[in-house]
Amino acid sequence: MAEQSGPLAGKVAVVMGVANQWSIGYAIAESLANAGAKLAITYRAERSLRDATKLVELVPGSKAFQCDVDSDDDIDKLGDDLKAEYGVVDTLVHSIAFAPPAELRGRFIETTREGFITAHAVSVYSLIAAAQRISPLMTNGGSIMTLSYLGADRVFPQYNVMGVAKAALESTVRYLAADLGDARIRVNALSAGPIKTKSARGIPGFSTMKDAAADKSPIKGELTAKQVADVAAFLASDAASGITGETIIIDNGFHVLGI
Ligand code: NAP
Repeated sequence: MAEQSGPLAGKVAVVMGVANQWSIGYAIAESLANAGAKLAITYRAERSLRDATKLVELVPGSKAFQCDVDSDDDIDKLGDDLKAEYGVVDTLVHSIAFAPPAELRGRFIETTREGFITAHAVSVYSLIAAAQRISPLMTNGGSIMTLSYLGADRVFPQYNVMGVAKAALESTVRYLAADLGDARIRVNALSAGPIKTKSARGIPGFSTMKDAAADKSPIKGELTAKQVADVAAFLASDAASGITGETIIIDNGFHVLGI
Protein backbone atom coordinates (compact mmCIF):
# COMPACT_ATOMS: atom_id res chain seq x y z
CA MET A 1 0.00 0.00 0.00
CA ALA A 2 1.16 3.53 -0.84
CA GLU A 3 2.27 5.69 2.07
CA GLN A 4 0.01 8.67 2.68
CA SER A 5 2.38 11.48 1.80
CA GLY A 6 2.16 14.14 -0.89
CA PRO A 7 0.05 17.24 -1.52
CA LEU A 8 -3.25 15.40 -0.83
CA ALA A 9 -2.12 13.50 2.28
CA GLY A 10 -4.90 13.42 4.86
CA LYS A 11 -7.56 14.33 2.26
CA VAL A 12 -10.53 12.21 1.19
CA ALA A 13 -11.40 12.02 -2.52
CA VAL A 14 -14.66 10.59 -3.86
CA VAL A 15 -14.37 9.34 -7.43
CA MET A 16 -17.70 8.51 -9.10
CA GLY A 17 -17.64 6.50 -12.33
CA VAL A 18 -15.11 3.68 -12.36
CA ALA A 19 -16.26 1.00 -14.79
CA ASN A 20 -12.86 -0.68 -15.26
CA GLN A 21 -9.12 0.00 -15.37
CA TRP A 22 -9.51 1.91 -18.65
CA SER A 23 -11.95 4.44 -17.17
CA ILE A 24 -10.71 8.02 -16.91
CA GLY A 25 -12.04 7.87 -13.34
CA TYR A 26 -9.66 4.97 -12.64
CA ALA A 27 -6.63 6.98 -13.78
CA ILE A 28 -7.81 9.99 -11.76
CA ALA A 29 -8.23 7.84 -8.64
CA GLU A 30 -4.68 6.50 -9.12
CA SER A 31 -3.27 10.03 -9.43
CA LEU A 32 -5.17 11.20 -6.35
CA ALA A 33 -3.92 8.17 -4.40
CA ASN A 34 -0.34 8.82 -5.55
CA ALA A 35 -0.72 12.36 -4.23
CA GLY A 36 -1.72 10.87 -0.86
CA ALA A 37 -5.53 11.01 -0.87
CA LYS A 38 -7.74 8.38 0.71
CA LEU A 39 -10.25 7.14 -1.90
CA ALA A 40 -14.00 6.55 -1.94
CA ILE A 41 -14.72 4.88 -5.28
CA THR A 42 -18.24 4.56 -6.65
CA TYR A 43 -19.31 2.12 -9.33
CA ARG A 44 -22.71 1.30 -10.85
CA ALA A 45 -22.56 -2.37 -11.80
CA GLU A 46 -21.27 -5.35 -9.81
CA ARG A 47 -18.87 -6.19 -12.68
CA SER A 48 -16.83 -3.08 -11.80
CA LEU A 49 -16.17 -4.10 -8.19
CA ARG A 50 -12.97 -6.03 -9.05
CA ASP A 51 -11.21 -2.98 -10.56
CA ALA A 52 -12.68 -0.63 -7.92
CA THR A 53 -11.15 -2.94 -5.28
CA LYS A 54 -7.71 -2.60 -6.91
CA LEU A 55 -7.97 1.16 -6.33
CA VAL A 56 -9.20 0.76 -2.77
CA GLU A 57 -6.12 -1.36 -2.01
CA LEU A 58 -3.80 1.55 -2.96
CA VAL A 59 -4.40 3.61 0.19
CA PRO A 60 -5.39 2.43 3.70
CA GLY A 61 -8.88 3.52 4.73
CA SER A 62 -10.22 3.63 1.15
CA LYS A 63 -13.57 2.00 0.27
CA ALA A 64 -15.84 1.25 -2.69
CA PHE A 65 -19.57 2.08 -2.79
CA GLN A 66 -22.23 1.06 -5.28
CA CYS A 67 -24.25 4.00 -6.62
CA ASP A 68 -26.56 4.25 -9.62
CA VAL A 69 -27.08 7.99 -10.20
CA ASP A 70 -30.50 7.24 -11.73
CA SER A 71 -31.64 6.61 -8.16
CA ASP A 72 -32.04 9.43 -5.63
CA ASP A 73 -32.10 6.76 -2.91
CA ASP A 74 -28.65 5.54 -4.01
CA ILE A 75 -27.24 9.08 -3.96
CA ASP A 76 -28.81 9.74 -0.54
CA LYS A 77 -27.28 6.51 0.75
CA LEU A 78 -23.89 7.44 -0.70
CA GLY A 79 -23.99 10.78 1.13
CA ASP A 80 -24.95 9.02 4.39
CA ASP A 81 -22.26 6.35 3.97
CA LEU A 82 -19.56 8.93 3.22
CA LYS A 83 -20.56 10.93 6.28
CA ALA A 84 -20.43 7.83 8.49
CA GLU A 85 -17.17 6.53 7.02
CA TYR A 86 -15.11 9.73 6.61
CA GLY A 87 -17.03 12.64 8.18
CA VAL A 88 -15.24 15.17 5.98
CA VAL A 89 -14.73 14.96 2.20
CA ASP A 90 -12.26 17.15 0.30
CA THR A 91 -12.61 16.21 -3.37
CA LEU A 92 -15.44 14.95 -5.59
CA VAL A 93 -14.71 13.70 -9.10
CA HIS A 94 -17.78 13.12 -11.28
CA SER A 95 -16.77 10.94 -14.23
CA ILE A 96 -20.17 9.71 -15.40
CA ALA A 97 -22.04 10.02 -18.68
CA PHE A 98 -24.60 8.05 -20.63
CA ALA A 99 -26.86 8.46 -23.65
CA PRO A 100 -29.00 5.69 -25.15
CA PRO A 101 -26.92 4.18 -28.01
CA ALA A 102 -29.62 4.96 -30.59
CA GLU A 103 -29.13 8.69 -29.92
CA LEU A 104 -25.47 8.44 -31.00
CA ARG A 105 -26.39 7.10 -34.43
CA GLY A 106 -27.82 9.09 -37.27
CA ARG A 107 -28.62 12.77 -37.20
CA PHE A 108 -28.93 15.04 -34.16
CA ILE A 109 -32.31 16.29 -35.40
CA GLU A 110 -33.70 12.80 -34.73
CA THR A 111 -33.00 13.07 -30.96
CA THR A 112 -35.96 11.69 -29.00
CA ARG A 113 -37.50 13.35 -25.93
CA GLU A 114 -36.68 10.26 -23.86
CA GLY A 115 -33.08 10.12 -25.11
CA PHE A 116 -32.58 13.83 -24.42
CA ILE A 117 -33.93 13.47 -20.87
CA THR A 118 -31.87 10.34 -20.10
CA ALA A 119 -28.63 11.87 -21.39
CA HIS A 120 -29.14 15.01 -19.31
CA ALA A 121 -30.34 13.19 -16.19
CA VAL A 122 -27.40 10.78 -16.05
CA SER A 123 -24.65 13.04 -17.42
CA VAL A 124 -25.62 16.44 -15.96
CA TYR A 125 -28.25 16.30 -13.20
CA SER A 126 -26.17 13.63 -11.43
CA LEU A 127 -23.45 16.24 -10.80
CA ILE A 128 -25.98 18.54 -9.12
CA ALA A 129 -27.46 15.65 -7.12
CA ALA A 130 -24.02 14.50 -5.96
CA ALA A 131 -22.98 18.06 -5.06
CA GLN A 132 -26.19 18.44 -2.98
CA ARG A 133 -25.26 15.44 -0.82
CA ILE A 134 -21.47 15.72 -0.75
CA SER A 135 -20.73 19.48 -0.58
CA PRO A 136 -22.13 19.63 3.01
CA LEU A 137 -19.35 17.18 3.95
CA MET A 138 -16.70 19.57 2.55
CA THR A 139 -16.42 21.50 5.78
CA ASN A 140 -12.78 22.45 5.11
CA GLY A 141 -13.57 23.69 1.60
CA GLY A 142 -13.08 21.39 -1.36
CA SER A 143 -12.72 20.69 -5.05
CA ILE A 144 -15.47 19.27 -7.25
CA MET A 145 -14.70 18.34 -10.84
CA THR A 146 -16.43 16.70 -13.77
CA LEU A 147 -15.40 15.45 -17.21
CA SER A 148 -16.43 17.22 -20.39
CA TYR A 149 -15.55 17.17 -24.09
CA LEU A 150 -15.07 19.73 -26.86
CA GLY A 151 -18.34 18.46 -28.36
CA ALA A 152 -19.96 20.95 -25.94
CA ASP A 153 -18.81 23.81 -28.21
CA ARG A 154 -18.21 22.21 -31.60
CA VAL A 155 -20.15 19.76 -33.71
CA PHE A 156 -18.65 16.28 -33.96
CA PRO A 157 -20.49 13.73 -36.13
CA GLN A 158 -22.73 11.45 -34.05
CA TYR A 159 -21.73 12.95 -30.70
CA ASN A 160 -25.23 14.41 -30.98
CA VAL A 161 -27.19 14.82 -27.73
CA MET A 162 -24.07 14.11 -25.69
CA GLY A 163 -22.58 17.36 -27.02
CA VAL A 164 -25.64 19.26 -25.85
CA ALA A 165 -25.42 17.52 -22.46
CA LYS A 166 -21.75 18.49 -22.14
CA ALA A 167 -22.66 22.13 -22.85
CA ALA A 168 -25.23 21.91 -20.03
CA LEU A 169 -22.62 20.25 -17.81
CA GLU A 170 -20.13 23.10 -18.33
CA SER A 171 -22.85 25.64 -17.53
CA THR A 172 -23.78 23.61 -14.44
CA VAL A 173 -20.15 23.89 -13.32
CA ARG A 174 -20.38 27.69 -13.44
CA TYR A 175 -23.67 27.83 -11.49
CA LEU A 176 -22.38 25.41 -8.84
CA ALA A 177 -19.14 27.39 -8.57
CA ALA A 178 -21.15 30.54 -7.84
CA ASP A 179 -23.28 28.75 -5.21
CA LEU A 180 -20.42 26.99 -3.43
CA GLY A 181 -17.68 29.65 -3.48
CA ASP A 182 -18.68 30.96 -0.05
CA ALA A 183 -17.97 27.51 1.36
CA ARG A 184 -14.52 27.60 -0.35
CA ILE A 185 -15.60 24.78 -2.64
CA ARG A 186 -14.26 25.07 -6.17
CA VAL A 187 -16.11 23.50 -9.12
CA ASN A 188 -14.44 22.88 -12.47
CA ALA A 189 -14.66 20.76 -15.61
CA LEU A 190 -11.83 18.87 -17.27
CA SER A 191 -12.45 18.76 -21.00
CA ALA A 192 -10.50 15.73 -22.22
CA GLY A 193 -9.56 14.84 -25.77
CA PRO A 194 -10.57 11.40 -27.11
CA ILE A 195 -9.33 8.46 -24.99
CA LYS A 196 -10.26 4.83 -25.70
CA THR A 197 -12.62 3.70 -22.91
CA LYS A 198 -15.77 1.58 -22.64
CA SER A 199 -18.03 4.63 -23.12
CA ALA A 200 -15.93 5.96 -25.99
CA ARG A 201 -16.32 2.67 -27.87
CA GLY A 202 -20.09 3.26 -27.83
CA ILE A 203 -19.71 6.43 -29.95
CA PRO A 204 -19.70 5.38 -33.63
CA GLY A 205 -17.58 8.37 -34.74
CA PHE A 206 -15.04 7.89 -31.92
CA SER A 207 -12.16 6.43 -33.98
CA THR A 208 -12.42 9.33 -36.45
CA MET A 209 -12.34 11.83 -33.56
CA LYS A 210 -9.40 10.06 -31.88
CA ASP A 211 -7.34 9.65 -35.07
CA ALA A 212 -7.93 13.26 -36.17
CA ALA A 213 -6.85 14.51 -32.73
CA ALA A 214 -3.74 12.29 -32.71
CA ASP A 215 -2.68 13.33 -36.25
CA LYS A 216 -3.51 17.04 -36.18
CA SER A 217 -3.06 18.30 -32.61
CA PRO A 218 -0.09 20.61 -31.97
CA ILE A 219 1.24 17.86 -29.68
CA LYS A 220 0.98 14.72 -31.86
CA GLY A 221 -0.07 11.30 -30.62
CA GLU A 222 -2.84 9.85 -28.50
CA LEU A 223 -3.80 11.57 -25.27
CA THR A 224 -3.60 9.31 -22.21
CA ALA A 225 -5.96 9.14 -19.25
CA LYS A 226 -2.93 9.82 -17.02
CA GLN A 227 -2.43 13.23 -18.65
CA VAL A 228 -6.00 14.12 -17.65
CA ALA A 229 -5.61 12.52 -14.23
CA ASP A 230 -2.54 14.60 -13.37
CA VAL A 231 -4.53 17.79 -14.00
CA ALA A 232 -7.27 16.40 -11.74
CA ALA A 233 -4.70 15.93 -8.96
CA PHE A 234 -3.58 19.55 -9.44
CA LEU A 235 -7.21 20.77 -9.28
CA ALA A 236 -7.73 18.79 -6.09
CA SER A 237 -4.71 20.44 -4.49
CA ASP A 238 -4.34 23.81 -2.79
CA ALA A 239 -2.14 24.87 -5.74
CA ALA A 240 -5.42 25.40 -7.67
CA SER A 241 -7.06 27.50 -4.91
CA GLY A 242 -7.83 30.37 -7.31
CA ILE A 243 -9.50 28.30 -10.06
CA THR A 244 -13.27 27.81 -10.07
CA GLY A 245 -16.11 27.76 -12.61
CA GLU A 246 -13.55 26.88 -15.28
CA THR A 247 -13.42 24.33 -18.09
CA ILE A 248 -9.80 23.25 -18.50
CA ILE A 249 -9.10 21.65 -21.85
CA ILE A 250 -6.59 18.79 -21.92
CA ASP A 251 -6.43 17.71 -25.56
CA ASN A 252 -2.84 18.15 -26.76
CA GLY A 253 -3.98 21.55 -28.11
CA PHE A 254 -6.48 20.20 -30.69
CA HIS A 255 -9.06 22.88 -29.79
CA VAL A 256 -6.86 25.79 -30.93
CA LEU A 257 -6.87 24.64 -34.56
CA GLY A 258 -9.05 26.26 -37.23
CA ILE A 259 -8.54 23.68 -39.95
P1 NAP B 1 -16.24 4.85 -18.79
O1 NAP B 1 -15.08 4.13 -18.28
O2 NAP B 1 -17.28 4.04 -19.49
O3 NAP B 1 -16.90 5.69 -17.60
C1 NAP B 1 -18.22 6.17 -17.64
C2 NAP B 1 -18.83 5.82 -16.31
O4 NAP B 1 -20.17 6.32 -16.20
C3 NAP B 1 -18.90 4.31 -16.10
O5 NAP B 1 -18.31 3.98 -14.86
C4 NAP B 1 -20.40 4.05 -16.07
O6 NAP B 1 -20.76 2.92 -15.30
C5 NAP B 1 -20.87 5.34 -15.45
N1 NAP B 1 -22.31 5.47 -15.50
C6 NAP B 1 -23.13 5.52 -16.58
N2 NAP B 1 -24.43 5.57 -16.17
C7 NAP B 1 -24.40 5.57 -14.81
C8 NAP B 1 -25.40 5.59 -13.81
N3 NAP B 1 -26.72 5.62 -14.10
N4 NAP B 1 -25.02 5.58 -12.50
C9 NAP B 1 -23.71 5.55 -12.17
N5 NAP B 1 -22.71 5.50 -13.07
C10 NAP B 1 -23.07 5.50 -14.38
O7 NAP B 1 -15.81 5.98 -19.86
P2 NAP B 1 -14.92 7.29 -19.67
O8 NAP B 1 -14.53 7.64 -21.05
O9 NAP B 1 -13.91 7.08 -18.62
O10 NAP B 1 -16.00 8.39 -19.22
C11 NAP B 1 -15.87 9.15 -18.04
C12 NAP B 1 -16.27 10.59 -18.32
O11 NAP B 1 -15.30 11.16 -19.20
C13 NAP B 1 -17.62 10.76 -19.02
O12 NAP B 1 -18.26 11.91 -18.50
C14 NAP B 1 -17.21 11.00 -20.45
O13 NAP B 1 -18.20 11.70 -21.19
C15 NAP B 1 -16.00 11.85 -20.23
N6 NAP B 1 -15.11 12.00 -21.37
C16 NAP B 1 -14.60 10.93 -22.00
C17 NAP B 1 -13.75 11.09 -23.09
C18 NAP B 1 -13.18 9.93 -23.83
O14 NAP B 1 -12.69 10.11 -24.97
N7 NAP B 1 -13.17 8.74 -23.27
C19 NAP B 1 -13.42 12.39 -23.52
C20 NAP B 1 -13.96 13.49 -22.83
C21 NAP B 1 -14.80 13.27 -21.76
P3 NAP B 1 -21.29 1.60 -16.11
O15 NAP B 1 -20.25 1.28 -17.12
O16 NAP B 1 -21.45 0.58 -15.07
O17 NAP B 1 -22.60 2.02 -16.74
